[in-house]
Amino acid sequence: MQPPGADTVLVRHGDLNTKSRQVQGAMERRLVANLQALLADRGVDAEVERRWSRPLIHTSERQIEDALDAATSAPGVVSASAVRAVPAERQAIETTLAEAAREHYHEGAFAVRGRRADKSVPFDSEDAQRFGGTAIWEAVEDEFEPEVDLDDPDLEFFVEIRDGEAFVFLEKVPGPGGLPLGTQDPVVALISGGIDSPVAAFEVMRRGSPIVPVYLDLGDYGGVDHRERAVDSVRTLASYAPNHPFDLRIVDADETVDLLADRFEAGRMLAFRRYMYRVAERVAEETGAVGIVTGEAIGQKSSQTTSNLGVTSSATTLPIHRPLLTVDKQELIERAKDVGTYSTATIPAGCNRFAPDQAETHGDLASIEAREPDDLFERAERDADAAEVVGLGRGANGI
Ligand code: ATP
Ligand code: MG
Repeated sequence: MQPPGADTVLVRHGDLNTKSRQVQGAMERRLVANLQALLADRGVDAEVERRWSRPLIHTSERQIEDALDAATSAPGVVSASAVRAVPAERQAIETTLAEAAREHYHEGAFAVRGRRADKSVPFDSEDAQRFGGTAIWEAVEDEFEPEVDLDDPDLEFFVEIRDGEAFVFLEKVPGPGGLPLGTQDPVVALISGGIDSPVAAFEVMRRGSPIVPVYLDLGDYGGVDHRERAVDSVRTLASYAPNHPFDLRIVDADETVDLLADRFEAGRMLAFRRYMYRVAERVAEETGAVGIVTGEAIGQKSSQTTSNLGVTSSATTLPIHRPLLTVDKQELIERAKDVGTYSTATIPAGCNRFAPDQAETHGDLASIEAREPDDLFERAERDADAAEVVGLGRGANGI
C-alpha cells in the first residue's frame, strides 16, 4: 500500500547507528552497492542514492513494488517504505495526504504519524500531524464518517521530514535486519540441503558474513536428490546477494563414509562429523574464511547433544557458529519458509540413512579418536582439495 505517485523507497537500517561515523559510512556504502545489485538482478530500473542514515531508491511508479521487495530482502535493512517525496512545505504535504486518503481510506479510524529529522522547516512533527489530519479528514468527510484514533488506528499515514523533503507513506515493510552483507569476513557454511543448514547460513549472511558453501556427498547414503536440493538451497541464498560469489564445494565423502560404517556402529556419526569439520577447516584455509557455520541445535539429533557437540567440535580450532543452537524445529520450519529454502528440504536427510540403529548420545573423545582411521584428517584435507566447485552466484557486478 502506497500513496499515489510513490516512486521512491525510503530504506531504514538499524544496528549501524551505534557505529563510529567512519564505520557507519563504510557500511552504508556497502548497503548501497548491495541494493543496487539486487535491483539490477530483479530487472528494476532504479538509482540508489546514499543519504546519511536513510538510503533512497529512486525508481518509477510502475516498478515501486519490485523495488520495495528488493529493499526488504537485503541484509541490513530493518524496514523500508514506498514513499511519495514532496517539498517539505505545508501545502504539498496536505495535498499528498489528501490524495492518499482518497485512494486508501474506506472506513474506520486513522492516525497521522509525524517525524521531523530536519529542524530547519517552520513546523514540527506535531504541527504536521495536526494539519495533515485535517487535510485527510476534509478529503473524505463527504463520502465517509472518518474517526481519528492515535492508539489503535485502522490506517496510518506517515510524514517524515528530512533534508528539505517530506516523505509521505502508509506502511513500513520489515526487512531481515542485521548488517549489510560483506561487512564481516566470510565463513564456511556446511550445507546439507535439509531444513536447518540453509537457515543457519542465512543467519550469518543476515549479520553481514558472506558464506563459502560446502556440501558433503555421502554416496549411497545420500543420493542425487540430496545433491540437487543442496544446490537449490544455495541458489536461493545467492538470490539475496547477487553481487557476491557463491561457489558451492561438493566434496566426495563416499569412501570415508563407507570406511566409517565398517569401523563403527555407535559413534560413527561423531567420527563423520569430525571429518566434516576438518573438511570445512581446509576449505576455510584455502578461501580466507574465518569460521564454520552449521544448522546444529541442542539435542535435535544424537550427534547434537551438548556432550557430543563438545566431542565433535574438538576436531577443528576454528570457531563453529551455531546460530540455531536453541531454536525448536517448528520455528526452524517457519524460518526456512521465510528464507525460501523449505520446499527443497523436505526429503529425509542422507545422514538419517548413515545413522546407526543404536546412536551414541555421550560419545567419549578418547575412544572415538582411538577407533578413527589414523588418516581421517588427511582424508578430509585431500577430499576438500579435490572438491568439485559449482559457481552458483548470480554474477551481478558491483562488489
Ligand atoms: P535436518 O535436521 O533438517 O534434516 P540438517 O541440515 O540440520 O537438516 P543434520 O543432520 O541435523 O541436518 O546435520 C546438522 C548440521 O550438519 C547441518 O545443519 C549442516 O550444517 C551439517 N551437515 C549435515 N549433513 C551435511 C552434508 N551432507 N554436507 C554438509 N553439511 C552437512
Ligand atoms: Mg538439523
